[in-house]
Amino acid sequence: MNLKLAIQKSGRLHEDSIKLLNDCGIAVKSSGSHLRTVADNFPLEVYFLRDDDIPQYVEDGVAHIGIVGENVLYEKEKKAAIIEALGFGKCRLSIAVKKTDEYGTAHFLQGKKIATSYPVLTQKFLNENKIDAEIHEISGSVELAPGIGLADAVCDLVSSGSTLFMNGLREVQTILKSQAVLVQHDSLGEDLLKIVGQLLFRIRAVKRAKN
Ligand code: ATP
Ligand code: ZN
Repeated sequence: MNLKLAIQKSGRLHEDSIKLLNDCGIAVKSSGSHLRTVADNFPLEVYFLRDDDIPQYVEDGVAHIGIVGENVLYEKEKKAAIIEALGFGKCRLSIAVKKTDEYGTAHFLQGKKIATSYPVLTQKFLNENKIDAEIHEISGSVELAPGIGLADAVCDLVSSGSTLFMNGLREVQTILKSQAVLVQHDSLGEDLLKIVGQLLFRIRAVKRAKN
């Protein structure tokens, strides 16, 4: 029996996910044009997917485990338990406003328009702060929205902040800190859990060796 693992097909988490498996002594190659691959020397089958789809695959049990950013996991609100934080893909989901705007507190956002690819997490933040604002969902290039008059502010992923800066924006408040995590389907059988245990054992050894 093979354990089925979903990882990002291409993008910011792809290389580090493959590298983690390789560091664990598991021979899998980068996706190329393939949608799945089987490891040579470990009972593992890897699916290459859009990161947005990974929580659903794991909730459904089509993939037994997955590697995904916490930001995507929480936005999708799917049932998939975090079993290990992986220490890569670190970023934060933050509110940013025009450089020249005085932000002060979250109340700046009252009645304003916020562009984001994370409507669920943004709405949660607004609710917690009792703020009424309009969320404008866009799937990419969120940081352009204020400059072209589409929104007053953005809620977007940031790592260095240079993309925001280049677009005349300033990060003013972090609403979520995120990293890549290993998630697991709710009810796996004993045989699969045993393989998950072996994989986790190796992942933890790799993490320890790095510290
Ligand atoms: P996909 O094609 O799989 O949908 P994507 O464009 O949605 O890819 P990427 O930009 O590759 O996603 O980012 C994948 C994940 O990498 C993010 O969800 C986040 O967890 C993490 N990440 C780390 N740093 C950043 C950053 N600066 N900007 C965006 N994502 C980041
Ligand atoms: Zn995505």
